Amino acid sequence: MFQIQNYINGKLVDPVGHTCIDNYNPAIGEVYSRTPDSDERDIEAAVEAATGAFPDWSTKPAQERARYLLRISDLIEDNLDRLAQAESADNGKPVSLARSVDIPRAASNFRFFATAIQHFASEAHAMEDTAINYTLRHPIGVVGCISPWNLPLYLFTWKIAPALAAGNCVVGKPSEITPMTAYLLSELCIEAGLPDGVLNIVHGLGQKTGSAISTHPGIPVISFTGGTRTGATIAATAAPLFKKLSLELGGKNPNIVFADCRYEEMLQTSLLSSFSNQGEICLCGSRIFIERSLYETFRNDFVEQSKQLTVGDPLSDTNRLGAVVSKPHMDKILSYIELAREEGGTILCGGRQVQVEGRCRDGWFVAPTVIEGLSHTCRTNQEEIFGPVVTLIPFDTEEEVVAYANSTPYGLAASLWTENLTRAHRMAGRLQSGIIWINCWMLRDLRTPFGGMKQSGVGREGGFEALRFFTEPKNVCIKM
Ligand code: NDP
Repeated sequence: MFQIQNYINGKLVDPVGHTCIDNYNPAIGEVYSRTPDSDERDIEAAVEAATGAFPDWSTKPAQERARYLLRISDLIEDNLDRLAQAESADNGKPVSLARSVDIPRAASNFRFFATAIQHFASEAHAMEDTAINYTLRHPIGVVGCISPWNLPLYLFTWKIAPALAAGNCVVGKPSEITPMTAYLLSELCIEAGLPDGVLNIVHGLGQKTGSAISTHPGIPVISFTGGTRTGATIAATAAPLFKKLSLELGGKNPNIVFADCRYEEMLQTSLLSSFSNQGEICLCGSRIFIERSLYETFRNDFVEQSKQLTVGDPLSDTNRLGAVVSKPHMDKILSYIELAREEGGTILCGGRQVQVEGRCRDGWFVAPTVIEGLSHTCRTNQEEIFGPVVTLIPFDTEEEVVAYANSTPYGLAASLWTENLTRAHRMAGRLQSGIIWINCWMLRDLRTPFGGMKQSGVGREGGFEALRFFTEPKNVCIKM
């Protein structure tokens, strides 16, 4: 069986303890590889390597660091098919999605930050003819990057690329549920000639390997994407150690539909924002609010089209949904559907596991599920499900829908469909979300600030925000 290895100090190595974790292919429900079950000894070796590499890497000219990152980006593109197949096998997502979204975006992350660092500038503040201040921005040192399983390579590289571009060295940990593409990335970094120790990838469990990163005194910066509860644990650990923290956490995003929207475009995009990647995207709109005059039309069309979305073997290009990531995650999704029933909801379609024939008969698949008849305050509408499950709620006034949208502890992303520009601007100001999409969803410009408010996170990724996060500002004041 294929054995994934850690990437430490430029070499692929087994974990010190020689123990491993089973890695499942969720579409077939079987173990297909083994992942290192690393512990604090492996993290110690990675920190030592990163610390040793830092003086040289951090003082290289930005253009030189950028050349390595561009080489990695090219290699990701050269290996598009192989990486897409690996992502699909590990996560259950359709290989067509991995080929068109996940892997191209991982390549873009490296390319974007390789060029961004060459345009990054810091500030100067003149005090008339008394003094001048200028701000230096230095790389910080060894950075810990911890990422989740839903968009494995996409989100891992979204952290690593700006951290490296800014001149830091990295100890990264992908989710142990989807380690394969991070492993393949380490092979590509070796091929790209990235200097030893600049990037280290250590595989293992969150509570052991992840926790060894967040508690390590030699890692002063943590960039984390994952669940809100894990984020709270990491924040509690990191705060007394005075670590710099970026937290990208969960969401319960509203998708708000006014009757004056461009209907067909809204309908097709809402199918995507509900069920893409089996609903396992932190930006998916899981609560759909529809203006009452449009409610019945929307419900009938949306349910009809949701029923037509094919669920099955992720290797087939005709399937729109693949498997969900694991058996425990499928059970969690199904338990929320059960909860929706108990809370008085009506399941309009889906609401069950899908039994697929052939190769995938033991896989973990869930049908696109649409629920109506629930209050915006019930648990189904307050807690993150992170699966192909959406609820429909009618509304009458703008005031009312803003209150519904803002009623959860989360504040990551919101979508709004209307042709009324004044209303769109007004609502964009009032919705408590870090990201507002008007008449679109998942339209991303990598220069924009990305992240959530309330329990969806602390800090912003993307563009110069990321480069500012991964550098330490130092003000220099010179008296004239
Ligand atoms: P988790 O919080 O369970 O895990 C995220 C990462 O943290 C994994 O690598 C995990 O390792 C690790 N981890 C777990 N416990 C600890 C710990 N005590 N110390 C350090 N690291 C730890 O999230 P999921 O992987 O389940 O991802 C789904 C969640 O991520 C959803 O809530 C989703 O909304 C959120 N998310 C947020 C995004 C955003 O940009 N805001 C984007 C994508 C997802 P392991 O897997 O081995 O346990």
